[in-house]
Amino acid sequence: MSIASDVHSLLEKMGVSRDKYTGGTLSVRTPVTGAVLADVPTVTPEQVEAAIAQAATAFGQWRQVPAPRRGELVRLLGNVLRENKEELGGLVSYEAGKVISEGLGEVQEMIDICDFAVGLSRQLYGLTIQSERPEHRLVEQWHPAGVVGIISAFNFPVAVWSWNAALALVCGDPIIWKPSEKTPLTALATQALFEQAAARFGEVPAGLSTLLIGDARTGELLVEDRRVPIISATGSTRMGRIVGERVAKRFGRSILELGGNNASIVTPSADLDLTLRAVAFGAMGTAGQRCTSLRRLIVHESVYDSLVGRLKQVYANISVGCPIEGNALVGPLIDKASFEAMQASLQAAKAAGGIVHGGERVDVHGPEAFYARPALVEMSAQTGPVLEETFAPILYVLKYSELEDAIALQNDVAQGLSSSIFSTDLRDVELFLSAAGSDCGIANVNIGPSGAEIGGAFGGEKETGGGREAGSDAWRGYMRRQTNTINYGRTLPLAQGVKFDV
Ligand code: NAD
Repeated sequence: MSIASDVHSLLEKMGVSRDKYTGGTLSVRTPVTGAVLADVPTVTPEQVEAAIAQAATAFGQWRQVPAPRRGELVRLLGNVLRENKEELGGLVSYEAGKVISEGLGEVQEMIDICDFAVGLSRQLYGLTIQSERPEHRLVEQWHPAGVVGIISAFNFPVAVWSWNAALALVCGDPIIWKPSEKTPLTALATQALFEQAAARFGEVPAGLSTLLIGDARTGELLVEDRRVPIISATGSTRMGRIVGERVAKRFGRSILELGGNNASIVTPSADLDLTLRAVAFGAMGTAGQRCTSLRRLIVHESVYDSLVGRLKQVYANISVGCPIEGNALVGPLIDKASFEAMQASLQAAKAAGGIVHGGERVDVHGPEAFYARPALVEMSAQTGPVLEETFAPILYVLKYSELEDAIALQNDVAQGLSSSIFSTDLRDVELFLSAAGSDCGIANVNIGPSGAEIGGAFGGEKETGGGREAGSDAWRGYMRRQTNTINYGRTLPLAQGVKFDV
């Protein structure tokens, strides 16, 4: 396989010039074979400063453009993405190691959020509120908030940008993107596609969308800068703890989308055929490298043996292999460090009394590529590595007898991203969805915890960071709210009956 030349021709097709990915200091490897694809130039602190200054100027112009017109730019972006879906999806597979359908699915998600944002550009609704005073009116309106800094993770190298970018742009905010240092090529391609959309649109202010390739220090420059009032950061809880604190220190706003430790509960009435498929996709899809990947399966004792017995067979037979060629369902881990973290967690699970099935390395494309058979680990208690997010395909299985205990177990971790229940019993389902049920930002029924649609707000509680992106009313996170009290009379009644006659 000559992945480098395939990748270079995809970049060229999408309008990325060679100087953007040659001669730099950031070596980009494909997880598919481990080969080096490109040497990408990174930005200097002076370039970061110039980009922020330019974006701040762009804000002054873009906020004056009517929102439906801003939506037109996002509509054009959606069109350019449609035209380049195969190319960008293919590049996601090469750079992040996702199987082809998932690479394409990621681009589809970008198209979906563009469509959503276009509609939203005519629906940035405020409120009219009844005043307690005669001849007064109260209004709540939403204004653009300013430059949005987007820091993204490797595992959704382009979709996360689009969730933020599409909404920020219709809300009147310029965007500055610091992608993962593991996936700069998909970012370069996305920026080139944005520029095509901007050229079709016409009068786009310089610096409306900027890409800054660099490492955590580049991200820190964005995080520290008051001219960037909103920081949307997706990645590990470790990163979010640093970023959240720094943004709070300057009273900025952060949208944090951090790690998950997602569980599914399987009740006695569950449809086990459906559950099996959902668990397989949730835990092994994307090689367990989704923030919403299923990591803990909490199974009722009455169905434990039958479900777990069947799961072991599925785990033993799942196709692990090249994500580009063939029909493998599980591709590689992103890098060696990721494989080592997986092995360390499996060792720790064994030490804690776990019974490990699978988890060994699979040789697909030689020693520089890190493929692993997904691991199923039977645990008698929720301890040790079960309490952590290991970003790899490990599924810990636990047994329960009372649903209340299963829900307590599910909630008894630091993260609060996604969860689900498999059940055909209305009472069990409603308890799970009630205030006394799942404490996560996402709680599903009869599907796994992963595979969200853009229509619903996406994000989680506790150490997942509390942010919400994509659908529902997540757009409010990109705007500032203003309350207006308007007196259209000739007297000045004060609120709460206060008298102040002068
Ligand atoms: P990571 O935390 O290593 O890196 C994420 C991004 O943060 C990168 O761009 C990195 O350069 C930047 N960064 C790191 N330290 C920083 C700092 N101090 N200041 C500014 N920027 C900094 O995460 P990763 O390994 O790329 O991604 C995997 C993690 O992301 C997992 O924990 C996963 O659950 C999480 N994730 C969460 C969501 C979500 O929506 N909740 C989505 C995808 C991934």
